[in-house]
Amino acid sequence: MTHSGLLACHECDLLQREVALPPGGKAICPRCKATLYTQSNNSIDRALALMLAAAVLFAIGNAFPVVTMEIQGRRTAALVWEGAWRLHEEGETVVGILVFLTALIFPLLQIAGMLAILVPLRLGLTPRYLVPAYRTIEEVKPWSMVEVFMLGVLVSLVKLAHMATVVPGIGMWAFFGLIIALAWASSTLNPHEVWARLEVGEPEPAQ
Ligand SMILES: [Zn+2]
Repeated sequence: MTHSGLLACHECDLLQREVALPPGGKAICPRCKATLYTQSNNSIDRALALMLAAAVLFAIGNAFPVVTMEIQGRRTAALVWEGAWRLHEEGETVVGILVFLTALIFPLLQIAGMLAILVPLRLGLTPRYLVPAYRTIEEVKPWSMVEVFMLGVLVSLVKLAHMATVVPGIGMWAFFGLIIALAWASSTLNPHEVWARLEVGEPEPAQ
């Protein structure tokens, strides 16, 4: 979209030259007045702070049990990966793998990847790997489904409530916090600002 410095209005298709905006600025289509793109104030700083919070919450969510159950005096508390392993042991291998991927691997990739991009950008660096890395993360993001995992946990808790004493653990609160932090970070981060910064580090093509 921004390669030639030209961009088409998404509302009326008017082709126009892209300009650098001051922080807080907004580019508006001269013909239909649609907002073309914005230059937010420190969107990278805020996204970085939220991703660091997400990393801490992710670590807590995986280090503490999501729920503690008490059935006939027997108390069981399971961590996320233990739950996934137990599903596998009970013959639900596919569900176990899905839990493992959506609640553990994909969020981990998303958080680690975003930090690997935001930290150098914050420091004013644009190493070569940033462009392919950012593209990959945008593709992995839809597969990071902590909220679907949490919904599954809640449904099974409601079903179990009549036969066991179920107590939400620290892990569950951490996962709720993680959902909020990830959603907030992706709504805060302006992809236009990231691409603009990434292009600064690219050498000018020889003409
Ligand atoms: Zn327009």
